[in-house]
Amino acid sequence: MPGFELFGEAERKEVHDVLDSGVLMRYGFDGLRQGHWKAKDMELAIQKRFDVQHAQLVSSGTAAVSMALAAAGVGAGDEVIMPTFTFVASFEAIMMTGATPVVVDIDDTLTLDIASVKAAITPKTKAIMPVHMCGSMANLEALKSICDTHHLLLIEDACQAIGGTYKGKSLGTIGDLGCFSFDFVKTVTCGEGGGVITNNTTYAKYLDHFSDHGHDHVGHDRGAETHPFLGYNFRISELNAAVGLAQFRRLDAFLDLQKKHYSILRHAIEPIDGVTFRTVPEGGVESYAFLNFFLDDLETARGVIQSFKANGIDACFHYYDNNWHYIRKWEHLKDKKSLYPLSQDLKNGLNDLKDKDFSKSDHFIGRNISCLIKLSWTEEKAHQRAELMANCIKNTIG
Ligand SMILES: *Cc1c(COP(=O)(O)O)cnc(C)c1O
Repeated sequence: MPGFELFGEAERKEVHDVLDSGVLMRYGFDGLRQGHWKAKDMELAIQKRFDVQHAQLVSSGTAAVSMALAAAGVGAGDEVIMPTFTFVASFEAIMMTGATPVVVDIDDTLTLDIASVKAAITPKTKAIMPVHMCGSMANLEALKSICDTHHLLLIEDACQAIGGTYKGKSLGTIGDLGCFSFDFVKTVTCGEGGGVITNNTTYAKYLDHFSDHGHDHVGHDRGAETHPFLGYNFRISELNAAVGLAQFRRLDAFLDLQKKHYSILRHAIEPIDGVTFRTVPEGGVESYAFLNFFLDDLETARGVIQSFKANGIDACFHYYDNNWHYIRKWEHLKDKKSLYPLSQDLKNGLNDLKDKDFSKSDHFIGRNISCLIKLSWTEEKAHQRAELMANCIKNTIG
C-alpha cells in the first residue's frame, strides 16, 4: 500500500515546481505561481480518474471525513453509524462535528454488518459511514437501500481502499460523499493530506468554502471575500499536493503491483486447510492494499502472528490485539477522555460503549490476520515471502 515506497523523480519534479516559484499555498498569488496549481491539478485528476464531478483536497483524511459530515449537515444531536473495526480517525472525525458515533459490529467482509446497522438505527441517526478497511468494501447496495428507506446519508470512508470498485464504480463515488486519506502510509501519499469526492454540487461548494475559513472564493482579491457560513482551516499545502499529484498519476501502476503481489501471497496460502479469506461483496473488486485471511480461532491467529514475527515477516497485523484499529482497545473513547468538555448528548451516546457486546466482531477480528501488500517488493521477494508465510501457518496449525 504505501506510495512512499516508490517516491522518485516524478514526485521530486512536482515539488521543485512549487519550490521554484515559492508559492506554497493553493489559493491566490496567481502572478507569482508561474502557472503551477498542484492542489487544483490533483483535484482534476481525481475527478477524471474516478468519474466524479467534484473533488476537494484537504489537510488529512480525518479532516476529509469531518468535512464530508459537516458539508452534509451532520452535527450536534445526530448519530453516525460506524464500524468496530476502523482507524481511530473515524470517531474523531464524527465527534469533531459534535455528532455521536454509534459503533456497530462488522461481519466476514471486515466492514459493517448489515443486520447490526439496521438494529442501530434510531430517530437520531443521520448518516451511515462504512469504512472500506484493508482494501475491500462494505456491502454498499444493502447500505444504500437502508439509507434510502430511512432517509439517511451514506458517507464512504475509502481511505484504505483507493482504486477499489463496486459494481463498476470507484469506491467513494457510491455514497453521497466519499473520503480518502493521502497520509504517509496510504497507497497514494501527499505526506499528509486527504480528499472528499461528491457528485452533489451544493456539498462541493460547502467543502470548498468550509475548508478555507468559509471564504467564498469569489473574485481575485482574497481579502475581499465574504463568508456565507462559518468555516475552518483544513487546507492542504501546495507542497503536499505536489507530491500527491505525481503519486496519483501512478495510481494504476500502484494498483497493478498491489494486485500482482497480493495474488502471489494468496495463491501460496489458499490451499492450506484452516485458512479462509474475507468475503468481498458481490460486484466488488478490491484495491489489493492488504491480504486478509481468517484462521480457525483466536489462539491460532495469535500463534501465526507470533510465528510471522519470529520469521521476519513484517507488516502483518492481528487487529484484535492492536491499539489503533479495533474497539477492544479504544479505552480513551470508552472512558471519554477528552481534553475539553464534551456535550451531554455526546457523553450520553458514548455511555453504553463500555459494556456493549461486540462478540460478533470479536469472532471475525480475533481470527483475522491482515498483511500489508508492499509496492517495493520484487516478484522474487513476494514469492519468498509467500512461501515463508505458508510454512509459518502450516507449522502453527500443526
Ligand atoms: C488513514 C485513515 C484515516 C485518516 O487519515 P489521516 O490522513 O491519517 O488523517 C481515516 N480512516 C481510515 C480508515 C484510515 O485508514
